Amino acid sequence: MQDSGETVESVRVACKICLDEIPLSEAQIEEASDYVLYFCGLECYQIWRARANSDD
Ligand SMILES: [Zn+2]
Repeated sequence: MQDSGETVESVRVACKICLDEIPLSEAQIEEASDYVLYFCGLECYQIWRARANSDD
């Protein structure tokens, strides 16, 4: 496979809450059975947790 030399460290993901792009290696990751969410830090993770809990 001829890739452009992208390594795991250069992969970036978007924070679910603030949509900032962060390196995958620095992201907070929430894995469920059928989805994976990324957060730039614990602050955004906790915002998401609070929202998820306040819904159903
Ligand atoms: Zn964020």
